[in-house]
Amino acid sequence: MLILLPSSSVRSLLHAYRELSQSLAHSGPDEVEVKLDTEVKLLPSDRAVILLGWQNNFLSELASALSEYDVAIKQNELHIGPRKIQRQNHSVVLTARLPKNKDLSLTWVAADLPDALPGLGRKLPHYHKYSYLGFQGPEPTNIAKGRWPALDTPMTTFVAREDGATQRVERAKLTRREPLASLPVVFSKKRMLETVRFLSSEELRGRSLGTEELDRAARFIAGKFQEAGLEPAGDSEGSYFQTWEDQSGTPERRVNLRNVVGIIPGRNSEGRAQSVVVGAHYDHLGLGWPDVREENRGKIHHGADDNASGVAVLLELAQVLGKSLKPNSTVVFVAFTGEEAGRKGSKYFVANQKRFPSEQTLGMLNLDTVGRLEEKKLLVLGAGSAREWVHIFRGAGYVTGVGVETVSKELDSSDQKSFQEAGIPAVQLFTGPHLDYHRPTDTADKIDPEGLLKVASVAKEVIEYLAKREEPLTNTLKPDSHVESAPKKTRKVSLGIIPDFAYGGEGCRLSGVVPGSPAESSGLREGDVVVRIGSKAVHNLRDLSNVLKSLKPGDRISITFLRADKEMKAEAEVVVR
Ligand SMILES: [Zn+2]
Repeated sequence: MLILLPSSSVRSLLHAYRELSQSLAHSGPDEVEVKLDTEVKLLPSDRAVILLGWQNNFLSELASALSEYDVAIKQNELHIGPRKIQRQNHSVVLTARLPKNKDLSLTWVAADLPDALPGLGRKLPHYHKYSYLGFQGPEPTNIAKGRWPALDTPMTTFVAREDGATQRVERAKLTRREPLASLPVVFSKKRMLETVRFLSSEELRGRSLGTEELDRAARFIAGKFQEAGLEPAGDSEGSYFQTWEDQSGTPERRVNLRNVVGIIPGRNSEGRAQSVVVGAHYDHLGLGWPDVREENRGKIHHGADDNASGVAVLLELAQVLGKSLKPNSTVVFVAFTGEEAGRKGSKYFVANQKRFPSEQTLGMLNLDTVGRLEEKKLLVLGAGSAREWVHIFRGAGYVTGVGVETVSKELDSSDQKSFQEAGIPAVQLFTGPHLDYHRPTDTADKIDPEGLLKVASVAKEVIEYLAKREEPLTNTLKPDSHVESAPKKTRKVSLGIIPDFAYGGEGCRLSGVVPGSPAESSGLREGDVVVRIGSKAVHNLRDLSNVLKSLKPGDRISITFLRADKEMKAEAEVVVR
């Protein structure tokens, strides 16, 4: 080992560094040589090196050895990610690989106070598993520690403990890197925003089932399918509409329903009629039916995120793929009606359209609530329905540079469920829950246009892959999910929690609480994991939702939850929704 002293340090500090070098020389079996930084021209490549001091001549070599990490060595400050450690009164340690021999280490130890160095010499052997350290004062007291993240590997994973919590080792961040390949921008933000604005406008009055406004939306979508060059695939020759009648509303009445269907025919459509379905529901809650919070009754529910955003991405995909894609399987674009009223459109499609039978449907991609990605990861719900989904989306994430997180746990959610019930592997792209969900405040100005682009580019990769693939996906749907779930019981109460959909452990983790809600007054907060309500165990989000469905406004409940692995209890009185 070679230790290089900072020749330009003040004498007291240089002296203390020499003493530290001696104690390091005696602490291990390695032969240690100590030199001044002026005595050496180049760093060696045959042994490990320790640089001492803020004024070491070789500091720039260290900085370049760490260039892939989010680290900056400033004159009087060290930056590791968002964390800043002052030079004054602090000591720091950084490790890197020796530039000319990556099997050997290059370590930097620098202190402000000579008094801190003896203590540092004693403590360092206990911190050998860390990549960086920060200490304060002459003691010195550890204030920062962590490891560099692994570079160039998708193999890092954090394994959940038995209780479901994942123990993460704190890691520094990588510098932002460009995706492996940058794709030409083929999608138009402007077009997608125009679609969202139109569908969520006052004019369309919330796109309620059985209204002229919803029919207008359907005609608009059919017009865009035609413009994009999709072939009509409705009930009758030349029509994009699949039309039927049903009972709906409160009180019930007869309503006309229609899905809008267009296709890009597959090369193999002569022989095996294999298909891939891309869908988005275009209906919403109108003036507040079937789901409304008491204070919002009669107000226009705009449904910009839910789900004008999904339709906008669907139309954009049609526009871009319609004239260029030459798929093996037929790609079926469907705008579903009646999702909010119990997935009426997707259920009808699966049961009644004849051209693309379930057994020949390779997979289904549902776009529902994809308008608010911002800095979050794009969630893929239902990824447990086929073995390949995690790999397909990981690949799409790499190619597009978009952060994607697959969620395999079963959640009762949107139209993909109707396909899963028919035995078809199906997933939903989702940009996460928010306070405006099913409220009049879900408006177009809150949509993230950059996010729409990212969702579209991930969806495009996945569709192109599925459309080319010959063999079916490895279906992992459990037989019981083929059975149609019991008719939806509606929820009458509100607790005001925002679940974390990406949480994979036992219980239901909160990503937040609604301000002014019973959950907030009860003291619940972000990160809490609800495990029990009253006497009922909450294993997952669905359990929680079932408990809430069994309550009436004014009911008092006791909530058992975990906070930092400690079990705690809270009381809340649920209110009318
Ligand atoms: Zn909805």
